[in-house]
Amino acid sequence: MAINIEGLTFHYGGAKQSPTILDDINLTIPSGRITAIVGQTGSGKSTLVQNLNALLLPSGGQVVVGDQVITSKTKEKALPAVRAQVGMVFQFPENQLFAATVLEDVMYGPKNFGKTAEEAEELAKKALNRVSLAEEFWQRSPFDLSGGQMRRVALAGVLAMNPKAMVFDEPAAGLDPQGQLELLDLLRSLRTEGKTVVLISHQMDQVLALADQVVVMQDGQVAAVEAPDQLFQRSRQWFLDHSLDLPTPVAFAKDLEEKGYHFDHLPTSVADVAAQIAKQ
Ligand code: ADP
Repeated sequence: MAINIEGLTFHYGGAKQSPTILDDINLTIPSGRITAIVGQTGSGKSTLVQNLNALLLPSGGQVVVGDQVITSKTKEKALPAVRAQVGMVFQFPENQLFAATVLEDVMYGPKNFGKTAEEAEELAKKALNRVSLAEEFWQRSPFDLSGGQMRRVALAGVLAMNPKAMVFDEPAAGLDPQGQLELLDLLRSLRTEGKTVVLISHQMDQVLALADQVVVMQDGQVAAVEAPDQLFQRSRQWFLDHSLDLPTPVAFAKDLEEKGYHFDHLPTSVADVAAQIAKQ
C-alpha cells in the first residue's frame, strides 16, 4: 500500500497566528519499500509522519493512504480505519505500555479492532514470537521487564495489528548494539513481506544500509528525495548543511584528507576509501 502526500501543509493552530510547520509537501511513499526521513531537529519529520495515519489532519492538501483520502475535513469516524492501516511506533514506545500483563498489552489493539479474544491472543503470541520475547515473560507485568524487552512488547503491539504500513520514529534510540541489529532485521523482514516502512532516523549509516529512498527534510519542506547511492554524490558540506551525520566512509575520508590524501568522489564504502588511497 503506497501513501501519497499531495500539497500537504500543516499548522499546529490557525493558519494566521501559528507558523507553517509543513509547507507544500509532495511525496510518494512506495509500497513494500523502506523510506527513511532525515533532517535536523525541528525540520518537521515527526509532524509529517503523524499526518500519515491521521493522528494529525492536514491543514491543506491531502494524504492518500491506500484508497482513503485524508484532508482537513475528514470526519472523526473515518480515522480508526486509517490508523489500523498505518501502525505508528513512537520514540520510546515502551512509555505507552499500560496493561497488567505483556500478553494483554499486545492483545489490546486487535481486540479493539473487532477480533475475538481467541483471535487477538493468537495474533499477540505470533507478534511476541516475532520480536523474540520468550514465553516466560508473557504473563508478567510489562513494567517488570528490561528496557529492551519493553521495547519489544511495544513493537509487538503494533505488529499484532498487522498494518499495511509501519512508521518508526527513531526506533533504535537507547537500544544496545544487539537490539539495534535485531531491529534492523525486523525492518528488513517487514519489507520482504511487502509492508510499507517509514523510518525517521538520524543515524546515517543505518539509513544508508536500510533505506530504498531517503527523504531529506529542511524547515518544513522536502529538500531532497534520493536513493542512498545518490547521497554519496553529494559534498560533505551538503551533509553538514542539512545537519546530517557523515556516513562512516565519508567521515573516514575526511580524516584521511586532513592527513594529505585526496578523494575524487565521496567514498561509498570503507573498501572504496581503501581503493582510492591505495595508489597515493
Ligand atoms: P522533527 O521531528 O524534525 O524534530 P517536529 O515535527 O517535531 O520536527 O517539529 C517541527 C516544528 O513543529 C518545530 O518547530 C516544533 O517546535 C513544532 N511543533 C512540534 N510539535 C508541536 C506542537 N504540538 N505544538 C506546536 N508546535 C509544535
